Amino acid sequence: MHVTRRQFIKVTAGGLAASSMGVLGFLPSEALAEVRQYKLTRAKEIRNTCPYCSVGCGLLMYSLGDGAKNAKAEIIHIEGDPDHPVSRGSLCPKGAGLLDFIHSPNRLKHPEVREAGSNTWKRISWHEAVDRIARHIKDDRDANFVARNADGVTVNRWLSTAMLTASASSNETGILTQKVMRSLGIVGTDAQARVCHGPTVSALASTFGRGAMTNTWVDIKNADFILIMGGNPAEAHPVGFKWAIEAKKRGARIVVVDPRFNRSAAVADEYMPIRAGSDIVFLGGVINWLVANDKIHWDYVKAFTNASFIVAEGFSFDDGLFSGFDAAKGQYDRASWNYEFDENGKAKTDPTLQDPRCVWNLMKAHYARYTPEVVTDLTGTPKDGFLRVCEQLGATAVRNRVATILYALGWTQHTVGAQNIRTMAMIQLLLGNIGMPGGGVNALRGHSNIQGLSDLGLLSTSLPGYLNLPAEKANPTFADYIAKNTPKAQADGQLNFWGNTPKFFVSLLKWFWGDKATKENDWGYDWLPKWDKMYDVLQVMDLMHNGKVNGFIVQGFNPLTSFPDARKTAASFAKLKYMVVIDPITTETSSFWQNHGELNDVDTASIKTEVFRLPSTCFAEEDGAIVNSARWLQWHYKGADAPGEAKTDQEILAELFVAVRDLYRKEGGTVPEPILNLSWPYKNPLEPTPEELAKEMNGRALADIPDPKDPTKFLARKGEQLPNFAMLQADGSTMSACWIFAGSWTQAGNQMARRDNTDSGLGNTPGWAWAWPANRRIIYNRASCDPSGKPWDPKRTLISWNGAAWAGADVPDFKVDSAPAEGMNPFIMNPEGVGRLFCTDKLVDGPFPEHYEPMESPLGTNPLHPKVVNSPAVRMFKADRERLGTHDQFPYVGTTYRLTEHFQFWTKGVRLNAIAQPEQFVEIGEALAAEKGIKAGDWVQVSSKRGHIKAKAVVTKRIKALTVTNRTIHQIGIPLHWGWETVAKKGFLSNTLPPAVGDCNTQTPEYKAFLVNVEKIGVA
Ligand code: SF4
Repeated sequence: MHVTRRQFIKVTAGGLAASSMGVLGFLPSEALAEVRQYKLTRAKEIRNTCPYCSVGCGLLMYSLGDGAKNAKAEIIHIEGDPDHPVSRGSLCPKGAGLLDFIHSPNRLKHPEVREAGSNTWKRISWHEAVDRIARHIKDDRDANFVARNADGVTVNRWLSTAMLTASASSNETGILTQKVMRSLGIVGTDAQARVCHGPTVSALASTFGRGAMTNTWVDIKNADFILIMGGNPAEAHPVGFKWAIEAKKRGARIVVVDPRFNRSAAVADEYMPIRAGSDIVFLGGVINWLVANDKIHWDYVKAFTNASFIVAEGFSFDDGLFSGFDAAKGQYDRASWNYEFDENGKAKTDPTLQDPRCVWNLMKAHYARYTPEVVTDLTGTPKDGFLRVCEQLGATAVRNRVATILYALGWTQHTVGAQNIRTMAMIQLLLGNIGMPGGGVNALRGHSNIQGLSDLGLLSTSLPGYLNLPAEKANPTFADYIAKNTPKAQADGQLNFWGNTPKFFVSLLKWFWGDKATKENDWGYDWLPKWDKMYDVLQVMDLMHNGKVNGFIVQGFNPLTSFPDARKTAASFAKLKYMVVIDPITTETSSFWQNHGELNDVDTASIKTEVFRLPSTCFAEEDGAIVNSARWLQWHYKGADAPGEAKTDQEILAELFVAVRDLYRKEGGTVPEPILNLSWPYKNPLEPTPEELAKEMNGRALADIPDPKDPTKFLARKGEQLPNFAMLQADGSTMSACWIFAGSWTQAGNQMARRDNTDSGLGNTPGWAWAWPANRRIIYNRASCDPSGKPWDPKRTLISWNGAAWAGADVPDFKVDSAPAEGMNPFIMNPEGVGRLFCTDKLVDGPFPEHYEPMESPLGTNPLHPKVVNSPAVRMFKADRERLGTHDQFPYVGTTYRLTEHFQFWTKGVRLNAIAQPEQFVEIGEALAAEKGIKAGDWVQVSSKRGHIKAKAVVTKRIKALTVTNRTIHQIGIPLHWGWETVAKKGFLSNTLPPAVGDCNTQTPEYKAFLVNVEKIGVA
């Protein structure tokens, strides 16, 4: 007799013993399933989300022990959630091993301190930990707070303590961190986004208006052609990648362009090698080919891009430099990178595209240099393969075929990271693939909530909802801030959504300082810190290295393993007075002072840094929402109690804040107002709940909001949760901590917890969770229709104009009642309403992407313009410049990556993952291995100017030697995941090797192309 799993669990729940069932012949068909069902019979089922990557797979967690008195709930089983519209029950090796993460022997259970010079951890009480840290914070802040700058402008910033924030913690933790941190005046702060997808935000926002993945995981199935370049989703986002395979089943072709024949390449239709760091040559070559072969979606380009906009006189590009370069400063003056405006402030256009200064003609001239021959010569990609990519992309320059791009850190982690992405964004505009189902630029975010923490502005110069933190020069006053951050429409009839900045910003200030934020004091504007320069992680580490930072608060981050030039990082930590590490597991950062032989050869006794290690909960032990790569805010639930004395991040932050505030109340101190006036309305001030914080992010009415169309009615009554961001006001009558999240927790309840997976069409599931903005799933979706409002492709109807409104399978990313005849364009965040082929002055290194060599170039020159080899706009500190190697000393290109079995450095503590990938290795191509006498399994030393690692050699056909400018270029693949806090074999920190230099716009480090040498040091 066959019994299904569900029938079986019903039967067992009915009380029959297994033995009697066996006798009666009721055994299920699979013995393993039987064991599982018994295990789960009395378990409680809880919904959660995988905390590793930002596919955001659904989890079912099963816990026991919640019923009995004094019994702690414990997770006993985890499996994929079959209802989840993306993962549909699947989990990759990481998600499948999550039980081992929760129960890792590396979980922290008690607060500890490492005293100055000590070689051991000492257990302390929470009380002692909080008191001592609060004292450090207050003393350092009082001594080093900068209230005014040299010009007398109130800046209220505190630079001598910096903070890193977590990438997998919930939005609710993130927003509380933002509140506490800014009230203290911290500007030296970053989330993981700085070292991963920072350039995505710059590139996509400067092109389309928002810096996020445009489409969804499931929507990838609607593509006809998928280019995977600058990423390896089969390995890094395995469950999301299933939708590329679904597309393939529909007949789509997949092409991978990558330095390595990776796991995505293994299932692609075609693979093309490329030299790491030469992507703009390849993509610039695609633009040139599309233009030369007239593979342009002309109706789309003319209507929805700035091709016809006329660029002002003065803009030029000559021999590697755009106009306005100041060699002494190493920066561009970007004044000439703009349109020509008429007397009404509207950009001039030439719809005939004849004007030699219109964007189209300037773009055409710029990329004419990127011929197929140049592409092959500089990238090492075979010409025929390159041309096949061009043809397949070009075939989508029509109404009824669509291409998408899947990329990740292979594009971001370069000095030209933002420009790599910009080039592809331009290609997708030329092909008419933005806003289309199956199209878009799909930035595959890494960590599970790094999208959310970027949304919440946990970066040095950001605020929630992609508002800017005030700058001391541009925004000395509230009026200056509003004037500089509220653009005017540059074309008639455009929505120009950032024109609403005052509503978003005042509502944010009301969240920060509540009743204390009044019109009279400019809503507490001066209590926010103002920045003088960006304090990104490279900047902060350099200041720390120079002894200018005393304290470092590290929340859910492992910078010693994550930042480039690990030796410099470790030396910098040793100069700190105090470090506070808040984490669920042990990290190399917290134990940087321990000597681990060659892995970390430090003099412990001479390191005087006091290190506090505070145990926090992990995903399974808390409620909250995280945002997947497709902008879905998914709510999850606590399934177990924390181990030992671990607390939630919210509780830890609240206890620290309240302790610091008490000290200021008792003792006074330097500029206490931002702290004493901070709104702290939580029922338990020592433990704000996720629900309280989520509701604050959504926002609520602080007074009755009258309906401007009917004075007898109200849009919302005082105290009500707001239904959307359109309700926000600039007069202090609303508060919202993150305007783009408005709509996530309304009067109707928690929208992020919704679980209706009904497909409304083309794989859209608008009833599952909630997506920002306004639950729109594919952004810029107005562009899926032609100017008259009809879908370009009737088979891909997402929304359309029905004569009275825009409606369809997705929420329109548009003014819903704006008729096509009104001429409003789809890129509603841009003041000109169109997508930008020429991005004006939005990026620091040029309005058109241009190829520059990595800072460590294997060529030592740039054949396109030998006088300008590297990006002229790169920012590099003197000490770091001195640590750059050259190709004669370090002849090979190193490139880092991660493996599907691991997630960064967290899975070092997870047994299942350690079994799957137990030992550090590097990948070396067969030709180089033969040259160096290296065999598979030999020990090798890989060195750069900054240090070395030792690892086993994997000799592989996956990395081929390339011919570039008539010389042979070898590339070495360096996986990331090792260290000494591990249940696997200890290993070296791979990021000892890359240089401390970042993308010109965002300072995301150049991990993907740097110079190394390799030597055999032992046999297998
Ligand atoms: S790591 Fe990513 S793909 Fe794997 S189970 Fe977790 S969310 Fe899914």
